[in-house]
Amino acid sequence: TRTPVNVTVTGAAGQIGYALLFRIASGHLLGADVPVKLRLLEIPQGLKAAEGTAMELDDCAFPLLRGIEITDDPNVAFDGANVALLVGARPRTKGMERGDLLEANGGIFKPQGQAINAHAADDIKVLVVGNPANTNALIAQAAAPDVPAERFTAMTRLDHNRAISQLAKKTGVAVSEIRRLTIWGNHSATQYPDVFHAEVAGKNAAEVLNDEAWLADEFIPTVAKRGAAIIEARGASSAASAANAAIDHVHTWVNGTADGDWTSMGIPSDGSYGVPEGLISSFPVTVKNGAYEIVQGLEINDFSRARIDASVKELAEEREAVRALGLL
Ligand code: NDP
Repeated sequence: TRTPVNVTVTGAAGQIGYALLFRIASGHLLGADVPVKLRLLEIPQGLKAAEGTAMELDDCAFPLLRGIEITDDPNVAFDGANVALLVGARPRTKGMERGDLLEANGGIFKPQGQAINAHAADDIKVLVVGNPANTNALIAQAAAPDVPAERFTAMTRLDHNRAISQLAKKTGVAVSEIRRLTIWGNHSATQYPDVFHAEVAGKNAAEVLNDEAWLADEFIPTVAKRGAAIIEARGASSAASAANAAIDHVHTWVNGTADGDWTSMGIPSDGSYGVPEGLISSFPVTVKNGAYEIVQGLEINDFSRARIDASVKELAEEREAVRALGLL
């Protein structure tokens, strides 16, 4: 029998955590034959709610779930962790400046990075979901110098999935017929969903659409503002779809991309496509044997170039801001 994989989830008592934990425990994160041990990290005020969620997890009698530990100590939560999903973050509240937000998140992601550095398993894979996800990932990475830099990633898979769904709807095909879509840049309103290399039922998506105005005026803003539209409709932010995307991200990272397809992940740039080295930016990636690679050689047209550059500029500014705070 396989040894259980240790999966740490921060902000476990939050909305996304609630939608995430049951799917991890039922085998959707890693595979239907992989047992898991869960470690739930919460702030002290969240511990009681996390215990309630753990009671419900017990009550599911998931055959793959081999244990649940709840703690407010990152050193305990990340001890031996193989996969870490960093969901808990300081939300932007009304009137809060970006610098204050980054500083508050520095107070969360720096100690978590340090704890990962000191205690996580050698094969640790980290996904940051809590916003601003790309820059929070950068803060955690900087605090974990002994962990290979590429193990710190940020989630743009929800944007990727949203874009696939919009494109499928527009072109009247099943989502499974959409391939090679790319999200570039920051998980923020500046993100750029790129269809120029995507395929719709085997044909080039941009040619099938043949409508740059739809791309610029409908598609891109719909994908980028989808989170706000969901808050407006549901009265609460997207949680199940964000959890689903986190599951997809890790599942792909562990199990690989399909032949001929790729996915989008926020990963440390190696300088590809003019993205300054070290920024955690979204790229098209293929994954094999648990390692991702940036898809190389894509031609970037002017339409795409301007939008990638704008999002990357925002990431560079966020990096400068956290550097000024002494977090890098
Ligand atoms: P959620 O579970 O709804 O969201 C958690 C984080 O995910 C937020 O930063 C949120 O960013 C982000 N996020 C990323 N993508 C999305 C998306 N598509 N839709 C919605 N959110 C997204 O927040 P809750 O407030 O319900 O729960 C947070 C929990 O984290 C609380 O239980 C709190 O106690 C805990 N916490 C734990 C910490 C720790 O473990 N050390 C530290 C801080 C908090 P955004 O707000 O920008 O939408």
